[in-house]
Amino acid sequence: DNFFDVLIIGAGPIGIACGIEAQKAGLSHIIIEKGCLVNSLYHYPVNMTFFSSSEKLEIGDTPFVTTLPKPKRAEALEYYRRVNAKFLLNTHLFEEVTHVKKTGDYFEVSSSKNNYRAKAVIVATGFYDIPMLLDVPGEDLPKVSHYYHDPHYYANQHVLVVGASNSSVDAALETYRKGAKVTLVVRGKEISPRVKYWVKPDIENRIAFREIDVYYDSAITAIGTDDVTLKTPTGPVKLKNDFVLALTGYRPNFDFLRKIGIDIPEEAPMIPVHDPETMETNIANLYLAGVVCGGLNTHLWFIENSRVHAEMIIKHFQASNA
Ligand code: FAD
Repeated sequence: DNFFDVLIIGAGPIGIACGIEAQKAGLSHIIIEKGCLVNSLYHYPVNMTFFSSSEKLEIGDTPFVTTLPKPKRAEALEYYRRVNAKFLLNTHLFEEVTHVKKTGDYFEVSSSKNNYRAKAVIVATGFYDIPMLLDVPGEDLPKVSHYYHDPHYYANQHVLVVGASNSSVDAALETYRKGAKVTLVVRGKEISPRVKYWVKPDIENRIAFREIDVYYDSAITAIGTDDVTLKTPTGPVKLKNDFVLALTGYRPNFDFLRKIGIDIPEEAPMIPVHDPETMETNIANLYLAGVVCGGLNTHLWFIENSRVHAEMIIKHFQASNA
């Protein structure tokens, strides 16, 4: 029937890792994912190369074999799909969890397709669903996107890329190489030091050779159908523009977390309340796993350092429910 020891929300790398740990411990489990398997990774840029080397993305003691040290998106999709299949996980796709409510010792969980009961719920919902908005006029125009997929689309177009972190730099370089006229607008004084070490000299040289334009200490203030307006240290600048890629980061779905009863401080970094030793939230047997637990600090957690959450959670659940 629809009763499980452990119900996991999200089939990202960490949700899958939680399913594997539950299964190893002999607990029944279900993973419920609103999109496709590893939905966030599926929506990454098509040519994206991870900053982590492949062994650091491994889960379930299963080798992630790649010929180059850093895997590409397509290899990661292949890997997590094979791992999900290898462990015969009970993964339900294209089903969104809408409600989680604790009644007595159990959780009642509703999704877009079904109702479930579970002894423990693990929230592994990541942060990739909700972009940080620019909050400027014109942001709702169809030419503005907070996700970037494929550079070919932008060939011969005037593209403004907002941001100076990995996503923005990758998008600027790739679209430039497909013939876009690229301008980067950067809030700070430099390209982020977090940019992948093998990519940073590339963007710095494209800027030095004036192949990609850049405005530092600047911000976008308005988006029109054929132009954009920037605020720069030397005054406002209006540029011809066809597309805006606003790659200014993402944040967890705080509304959903609050709705299911997890306490979240009002002030940044809005880290959802949890015990870092056990990953248990303010509600007993309701756990957080993966990058969602960083709140607005989306650089704090990644696959390498959060895959351990799976084991911590299952161990704690078993010890406290023995
Ligand atoms: P996610 O992979 O985001 O999984 C969360 C899942 O929950 C999603 O599939 C989502 O659809 C699902 N979901 C959300 N809400 C619901 C709901 N209500 N019901 C059902 N399902 C729901 N990390 C690294 O370690 N190395 C890298 O090189 C790296 N590169 C990155 C590059 C980019 C462009 C981005 C954006 C991130 C990168 N990260 C990298 C960070 C990486 O996204 C995370 O480390 C990883 O995806 C986190 O896994 P997760 O399982 O915690 O969350």
